[in-house]
Amino acid sequence: MKNDKIRLKEYRKNYYLKNKEKIIKKCRQYTLSHPDIRRKANRNFYIRHKDKILQYRKEHKEQVKFNTKKYKKSLKGKLSNKKYNHSIYRKEVIKRYNTSPRGIIVNRLKVLRRNERKRKLDVKIDIDDINKTLELYKHKCFNCNAKTRLEIDHYYPISKGYGIMYSGFNIGILCRKCNAEKNNKLPEEFYSKDKIEEFKRIKEKFLFWKKEQS
Ligand SMILES: [Zn+2]
Repeated sequence: MKNDKIRLKEYRKNYYLKNKEKIIKKCRQYTLSHPDIRRKANRNFYIRHKDKILQYRKEHKEQVKFNTKKYKKSLKGKLSNKKYNHSIYRKEVIKRYNTSPRGIIVNRLKVLRRNERKRKLDVKIDIDDINKTLELYKHKCFNCNAKTRLEIDHYYPISKGYGIMYSGFNIGILCRKCNAEKNNKLPEEFYSKDKIEEFKRIKEKFLFWKKEQS
């Protein structure tokens, strides 16, 4: 009997460890979709541990002050403040997203799609393609190895009618400076022979990956 209990406990523990992320995600979803229950639970927790909490606050006045200030400044804190202007909050969220690595890529993808559509090219590219491309280029400018201000470039220029998926893969990654320099030149006019060979290898890797996806 006792053995069974221990085994059950161990089984539960193992199950939790194995599925930790899934369980935490589900719990979070549940609390988010049941704010009343969460509020009640928080309230009950406070009532149960009131003495301890008040004592802690008394003993750590500076720390509590500091944390409150920090919380009020955070997005979550601002949102919980009913007086706070939500349009400012929204602006802040958008700004944060636009400067995040994912936001930057998504925005560039939008511009690229718009440009392709304008030229009536067939746009068959998504964020996974771009992420894979960035990985293959090691998140560096293909021309000068710079790591900032990276842009999506048409290896064969769009101005000459080549779409981003021309012959399966026409994506280059260049920094802003190099992209401006390359402009509407053909690869042969801009890159060395080594670079052209390197591009072919990257393209092969991409096409192989793409094949695996489908
Ligand atoms: Zn560059």
